[in-house]
Amino acid sequence: MLEIFNNFVKKYPDFISIKSAGSDRIQKELFSLGLEWRARMLYDMSEVIVREYNGKLPIEKEKLMNLPGIGEYIASAVLCFGFNLPEPILDTNTVRIIGRVYGLKITDSSRRKKIFKEIMQKLVDCVNPKQFSLSMLDFAALVCLPKNPLCFDCSLNKLCRYFQNM
Ligand code: SF4
Repeated sequence: MLEIFNNFVKKYPDFISIKSAGSDRIQKELFSLGLEWRARMLYDMSEVIVREYNGKLPIEKEKLMNLPGIGEYIASAVLCFGFNLPEPILDTNTVRIIGRVYGLKITDSSRRKKIFKEIMQKLVDCVNPKQFSLSMLDFAALVCLPKNPLCFDCSLNKLCRYFQNM
């Protein structure tokens, strides 16, 4: 999978080359990854970026969210991981940490809740937002696990409501 991705990026290093290749070609290139509709979306997105932004990805969240296939989560991820901007990354993993540490109820819609966004926004507004967000994801995968979190070894346990209420 990584090899296909690396070859693809080498062959099509920018949106202009994706647009020039055409939708069918891009779909064929990515066929073995089983990403048929995403490949189409990638082409459509490249087409808009070339037409409206001279082939350069806009770094305004609203503009990103108007591109084909880009929702709020992807727009935030592009800005944070691609440009190191302080955009909150809210997914099931980061929501789990915030909910537990701050003692907030976690539901399927928590990532859209104002309180989670506000807390994450304050946290990510730091010297290195990208590193912070990647660390949150690692922390969720290695320490603050969905089941049986490693609370006794956790560096946040003195601050954490979940731990205090165990
Ligand atoms: S103490 Fe436990 S629940 Fe709280 S952040 Fe650490 S691992 Fe997660």
